[in-house]
Amino acid sequence: MSEKTKGEELREKLFYQPKNLSEVLTPEEKTEAEKFALPYKEFLDHAKTEREAVSTIVGLLEKAGYVPFVPGTKYPAGAKVYLNNRGKALIASTIGTLDIGEGVRIEAAHIDSPRLDLKPNPLVEEQELCYFKTHYYGGIKKYQWTAIPLSLHGVVAKRDGTSVTVTIGEDPDDPVFCVTDLLPHLGSDQMKKSMSEGIKGEQLNVLLGCELYPDEKVSDRAKLNIMSLLAGKYGITERDFQSAELCAVPAFRARDLGLDRGMIGAYGHDDRVCAYAQLIAEITVKSPAHTTVTVFADKEETGSNGVTGLNSHFLVDFIADLAQTGGKELRHVLRASACLSADVNAAYDPAFPEVHEKNNCAFLGYGPVLTKYTGARGKSSTNDASAEFMAFVGGILERAKVTWQTGELGKVDQGGGGTVAMFVSQFNVDTVDIGVPVLSMHAPFEVVSKADLYMTYKAMEAFYKAQ
Ligand code: MN
Ligand code: MN
Repeated sequence: MSEKTKGEELREKLFYQPKNLSEVLTPEEKTEAEKFALPYKEFLDHAKTEREAVSTIVGLLEKAGYVPFVPGTKYPAGAKVYLNNRGKALIASTIGTLDIGEGVRIEAAHIDSPRLDLKPNPLVEEQELCYFKTHYYGGIKKYQWTAIPLSLHGVVAKRDGTSVTVTIGEDPDDPVFCVTDLLPHLGSDQMKKSMSEGIKGEQLNVLLGCELYPDEKVSDRAKLNIMSLLAGKYGITERDFQSAELCAVPAFRARDLGLDRGMIGAYGHDDRVCAYAQLIAEITVKSPAHTTVTVFADKEETGSNGVTGLNSHFLVDFIADLAQTGGKELRHVLRASACLSADVNAAYDPAFPEVHEKNNCAFLGYGPVLTKYTGARGKSSTNDASAEFMAFVGGILERAKVTWQTGELGKVDQGGGGTVAMFVSQFNVDTVDIGVPVLSMHAPFEVVSKADLYMTYKAMEAFYKAQ
């Protein structure tokens, strides 16, 4: 073994060098990471919409002893409660040993993902083929949603007060659906268009059927055939679509990716990968000092608006209930609180090096990325975490031996994006973004590394365990 030169020693001591988790994790930790990925993949398969995520998470919480939160109740330290916001957003909480006046520790991820929502009057027939018209939800590259198997998910609320849940295309025996694309033989005009124009929003129609209702006397026989199938199975009429939330999502399951199985390919990693990491941290934390507040938000992909998005008051109202029971003012509790906005960030993609700046981007397999600010252009529309708070969170991670990295979302002026961070920090809560690096973000099939998932869970756990 040759000894290190003084320069080498100094370099090691002074330079920041991101570390690949392959070289950091012990064999035992690698096994743990592998084990952690298994139930995560199952979770993804059961939680393809925010509603399904909420019901899946509530099931896991109840199994772990959580009970519905009742405002006004004085809960003892260690008590575990949850608050279900309209079946589309959720808060889980473990009461801390410290007084509520010391603030709470918030972890907030979102459980909605880009998809194709059905329009209010979706059912159409064209040339004896039946379709659902859609209006895409969130930021998608439309061409990616053609010619892949899709499943239908959602709920139809009826005017008699009952509702039916719809899931078609997940069981291997179920039929699936798709949006068709043009054959290359006739695609020369299409191929000359820009990628944003090649497939337009009004072409994202989900193919439903080709058979005609067996009555030659009626018109719209393809549509009638499909509507009669839906009526038979769900007891609904066409009017009921107007009070429905139905969507088409990729029908494929979460799969190991790569010969080394180091990654997971799936629909909806953004942001269920952070949601899952914080969920397990929430469930496993026993008697935290600060009360934990684990938020699973809806509507992030469309700007966090609406009653189940984090631009609504449901989070701060929950903290207000805790403050009131503890005899403290809400504003004082918020001022003393801290939040991790748990959301994914773009991983450096060697196929598109031009959009990243290599000193300041996240790499797949280098651990969760702590993101000081998101936004666009001159840092507009962002929570820009303070130096002090970056150091506070970085210190927690370091002491818990969490390997993490830092990065921006792309080069300066390349584009941008946002998270729920600014909707929490507006309540005077110190907040910073942290999450898993993702390849092909917002595509029907996104990619994360298992080691990153595991290390993100460790980060979320460390934040709750820290004093
Ligand atoms: Mn996200
Ligand atoms: Mn997103």
